[in-house]
Amino acid sequence: MTNITPVIEAKELYRHYHQGSQVVKALDGVDVTIMPGEFVAVMGPSGSGKSTFMNICGALDQPTSGMVKVAGRDLSALSRDELANLRNEVIGFVFQQFNLLPRTSALQNTMLPLRYAGIRGQEAIDRCRQALERVDLGSRMDHHPNELSGGQQQRVAIARALVTKPALIFADEPTGALDSATSVEVLKLFQQLNANGMTIVMVTHDADVAAYAGRCLYFKDGHIVRDTLEEERVAS
Ligand code: ADP
Ligand code: MG
Repeated sequence: MTNITPVIEAKELYRHYHQGSQVVKALDGVDVTIMPGEFVAVMGPSGSGKSTFMNICGALDQPTSGMVKVAGRDLSALSRDELANLRNEVIGFVFQQFNLLPRTSALQNTMLPLRYAGIRGQEAIDRCRQALERVDLGSRMDHHPNELSGGQQQRVAIARALVTKPALIFADEPTGALDSATSVEVLKLFQQLNANGMTIVMVTHDADVAAYAGRCLYFKDGHIVRDTLEEERVAS
């Protein structure tokens, strides 16, 4: 038996918000383990806790109680600086609205996480080139976002997420701002990255988008009510 470290390990995760006398249970007891190499879709209706789950696992928010480990590191044991480094180097984030700097080339946009990590000069340029080539934008490195299509802009954002060689990519509605043909292009890219070993956790409310993932977690009222991996285990 080899002991493989999970990319995400959440145990009895609760996130409650107090609003006056009301308690909003954004997460209400979430237990889940995600292993290296998985492509997981996080689904569920609006308000079911998907973003709260992502924000806590992405070290952007803290649980009311419970434990979360990312790449084997218990987030509650990390300092502010260690959390910031983890966000920058261990996790790649992809957002619905791309979040690229407008007056900056694809190469410079891709370089941003490396600057925070203190990687500069030729090594930084080489790593950005490689990341842009992986998303098939090797010939567009000097283009600014307004010279790129929506799908190309999202691929720059994916290159930026990949450039630190993270343990996983979190994508929150990555195709939400794209037309259906371009969405397919981005989802196939995720599948290709996943086939080469990248762990991907993608929030979507769209079943057609989720179908590209290998595993689906369905959230409802702060719980995971369905996990297709568990169903496969039971069936086999
Ligand atoms: P989803 O991403 O699935 O739409 P969220 O995780 O954003 O859901 O929200 C889950 C629940 O927690 C919702 O009822 C939402 O209103 C509530 N919530 C989220 N953030 C806050 C906050 N900062 N203060 C109070 N309630 C919040
Ligand atoms: Mg959300």
